[in-house]
Amino acid sequence: MHVGVIGGGVAGLTAAYRLAQAGEQVTLWERSNHLGGQAVSFPVAHGRLEYFYHHLFQSDTDITALIHELGLGDELQWLPSDVGYFADGRIQPLNGALDLLKLDVVPFHDRVRIGLVTAYLQRVRDWKKFESVTAEAWLTRAMGERAYKATFGAQLDAKFGRYAGDIAMVWFWGKIWLRTTSRRSPLEGEKLGYPMGSFGSVTDALASAARTAGATIHTGLGPEEIRSNAAGGLTLSFGDGNADVQVDRLIVTTPSPIFARLAPELSDAYRAKITSLTYEAAVVALLEMDRPLSSTYWMNIADPSLPFTAVIEHTNFVGPEHYGGRHYVYLSKYLETDHPYFTKDADELIAEYTTYLNRINPAFDASWITNSWVFRERAAQPIITLNYSERLPGHRTPIPNLYLANTSQIYPEDRGTNYSVRLGNQITAMVVDDARSGVPWGSGDQR
Ligand SMILES: Cc1cc2nc3c(=O)[nH]c(=O)nc-3n(C[C@H](O)[C@H](O)[C@H](O)COP(=O)(O)OP(=O)(O)OC[C@H]3O[C@@H](n4cnc5c(N)ncnc54)[C@H](O)[C@@H]3O)c2cc1C
Repeated sequence: MHVGVIGGGVAGLTAAYRLAQAGEQVTLWERSNHLGGQAVSFPVAHGRLEYFYHHLFQSDTDITALIHELGLGDELQWLPSDVGYFADGRIQPLNGALDLLKLDVVPFHDRVRIGLVTAYLQRVRDWKKFESVTAEAWLTRAMGERAYKATFGAQLDAKFGRYAGDIAMVWFWGKIWLRTTSRRSPLEGEKLGYPMGSFGSVTDALASAARTAGATIHTGLGPEEIRSNAAGGLTLSFGDGNADVQVDRLIVTTPSPIFARLAPELSDAYRAKITSLTYEAAVVALLEMDRPLSSTYWMNIADPSLPFTAVIEHTNFVGPEHYGGRHYVYLSKYLETDHPYFTKDADELIAEYTTYLNRINPAFDASWITNSWVFRERAAQPIITLNYSERLPGHRTPIPNLYLANTSQIYPEDRGTNYSVRLGNQITAMVVDDARSGVPWGSGDQR
């Protein structure tokens, strides 16, 4: 069986590797010139770094197992994380229950309520009950409006903008749960994982293992159209004088709006289902500096007058000695694609952002910056609304032998490289099982 895979991010690469291991003929096409998708890395001083800040939680067992399987176990380090909260012109540490009790952005009894709600959420396993209530409604009821608005509400606004009030409680529960499992005890600090050669070393090793197992991987090329053919497979058209390619089965890992455009034969019902699920976009500025901005790794910005909503100082997690003494700071903002920052000229965006950095460190001077980049992603964060499980599109599409496996189908956990590995493993098992059991075309899950 010849299986095609569209997209060379973590999900597509994992699927290509597993399919090749299963003895199938595999061809993967990645439209951009590099592999890695949202987890892509690029060269910086003495090393490589992600376009978008990345780390792993200790609950990320699928990718951890894969990293070990690829022989990179020694590269994966579990390092202490350091979280801060910027409000009222100050950075306050937020590394556990004791820091929360000292967080003076709300009165003491509100902090106790926030602590109790967090402790409750850390213990709940039955997420189903959080499917039909918004995070805003549930958290406001549980901790009171003032505490909600000053803390979790501000974070939801920062991440989801105009959609903040629509986010289901199950998404918020997932976030708390993931962080809980990254601590061994409530009083012990959190440890996060990082492959020391960057996530690029993982996707490189994955691509190389897939090729060694027999997969063919193309970059800089992606289909413009996918249609079913008389032989019962799929025909991929690439345009620009490239020959059409026929495959027996095809896995698409691109975001849903791209898939909807690529496959004109999708039924109206399936198309409506996948296009009704939306994503937040992200714009991330990365600054290289000759000295640190702060001593915090992950700083949530709870001051709406700042134009970015998190400052992630990577070199306060993985030390500057790994990057020739340079310091790297991401300034992150999730937004909608019609927000002016999404299309703003990179130099103008950097110039605007840097005027705010002495709010975080009064000594900051623009001369500290030795290099800068701006990265953008349209499908950065699926928006998880009420009763999402009923809205999830199936992996088997109405077109025979055509499968969809993308981040909008990760649930109830939040998207992340771990779940793209899981998706790649699961979709391979489904395709191989369908082929072996001769599942008739179009009889699959077409929700
Ligand atoms: C700002 C930000 C921070 C993040 N932080 C973390 C983190 O700390 N930890 C973590 O685990 N995860 C993090 N993630 C999420 C993680 O990177 C993604 O969930 C994961 O990489 C998605 O992988 P994927 O393969 O499912 O999808 P993608 O990475 O989106 O891959 C899809 C691929 O399809 C390609 N493609 C599109 N159209 C075509 C076409 N026509 N033909 C061929 N190819 C095409 C794209 O170029 C892309 O490479 C973060 C993401 C963002 C945006």
